[in-house]
Amino acid sequence: MTEFSEFSLDASILKALEKVDYKTATPVQAVAIPHILAGRDIIALAQTGSGKTAACSIPICQKVDLNKSGIQALVLVPTRELALQYSAEVQKVGAVKGVKVFAVIGGEDASLQRAKLNSGVHVLIATPGRLIDFIYNRSISLNAVETVILDEADEMLSMGFYDDLEFIIQCLIHEHQTLLFSATMPKAITKLAKLHMKDPEELVLERKDDSLGQIDHRFLYCTHTRRTIDLKEMLEDLNPTQAIIFCHSRIQVEQVARELKREFGDTDYLHAGMAQNLRQVVTNKFRQGKFRFLVATDVASRGLDFSNVSHVFIYQLSDDPCLYVHRAGRTGRYNKKGMVITLVTKRELSSLNKVMALLKQDPVWISEPPSSQERASSSPPRRKGRSRKR
Ligand code: AMP
Repeated sequence: MTEFSEFSLDASILKALEKVDYKTATPVQAVAIPHILAGRDIIALAQTGSGKTAACSIPICQKVDLNKSGIQALVLVPTRELALQYSAEVQKVGAVKGVKVFAVIGGEDASLQRAKLNSGVHVLIATPGRLIDFIYNRSISLNAVETVILDEADEMLSMGFYDDLEFIIQCLIHEHQTLLFSATMPKAITKLAKLHMKDPEELVLERKDDSLGQIDHRFLYCTHTRRTIDLKEMLEDLNPTQAIIFCHSRIQVEQVARELKREFGDTDYLHAGMAQNLRQVVTNKFRQGKFRFLVATDVASRGLDFSNVSHVFIYQLSDDPCLYVHRAGRTGRYNKKGMVITLVTKRELSSLNKVMALLKQDPVWISEPPSSQERASSSPPRRKGRSRKR
């Protein structure tokens, strides 16, 4: 076990870690912190739930020079919720030292954000779109940035942010350190890294199989018309502490949430079509355990830390097996056990095969399984069309 006192950290950072009861470094932190403190560029294959946010926040706060003005660390994240979560973590770590942290996100008053920026910020967390607005309006200077962190890089790319990231990185014309965190490593990430990073240290901070290992993956074979009935029965039987139910589209989210609310109360929903302040309220209430069932699109599948989620239900399986990994990762957080139950219809059997190949397991059915004939004859998935809205 690695004690935080083994790194050369200021007393103020150690004090803050003591205050939040971080007693020892997680394996991810033990590996990453020395590299980051040494100023190396890193590409890290890391899952959420491993303590990767603090693995970055601790050395970043350590490096902040309070005597210098201007943004010294810039963190780019794919979603507003993640920006707020990241900023809360940096705040915890940097509070005693006096590090000023701020998140600029879409959907909030830009003039207020501008005023806050002018009042002095050491660590800025941003979603790419809003940051670019600020750069275009000349409301922000990135001249003092010494470290750039691309968090959940694969998700930013799959959301179509490649050009935005390129643009932002090109605005940083001076020497800087780049830290790239990603749960998966598609080719575009390697390309981005090759173009913009200096001899990066490649770290596999947590093997995907290990993080998914403490999750119990179960599958229920059903017909399309039974989906909601089966879901309700499972919620009744399993009585989860808290559960996230992942749906395919915003409309499906609202329909399922309505059904569950009628049956159990204690339900709310989250998707990217909602106003930002409402999204924040729902996220915070769920995190505080104020309701049990969150029905959501994949806006909730990335990075968000809901530590009491005992069960994840996948209402409709996506054809992208990586999405399964992210959805599943909302449970089994920080060494807790979790269960993921996926409803599978005949149409989704080919997507299921992809997930099982990734998990390197055979499916464990909690229902009558599909016949081997049905599994063998499952047609190849339809080609992806336009990406759906989350
Ligand atoms: P993350 O992977 O960054 O989403 O972190 C997952 C959870 O682990 C968060 O709730 C953190 O507050 C918590 N955490 C991070 N580092 C530590 C640590 N060293 N000791 C205890 N909890 C931690």
